[in-house]
Amino acid sequence: MVRTIRENRSSFLRVKCPDCENEQLVFEKASTVVTCVVCSHTLAEPSGGKALLKAEVISEYK
Ligand SMILES: [Zn+2]
Repeated sequence: MVRTIRENRSSFLRVKCPDCENEQLVFEKASTVVTCVVCSHTLAEPSGGKALLKAEVISEYK
């Protein structure tokens, strides 16, 4: 019997906005553009798989 293991578990990333230093959670595989809730700076853009991060990653949640 073959077991199906889910290896593609997604995680959340805590990022810091380069403009206003606001910290917020971004889904690792965001399918829409994620903007800073404070200043609207783009933090992540969708890229088909993992989101393209435009901010500093502080920590990762799995
Ligand atoms: Zn900001």
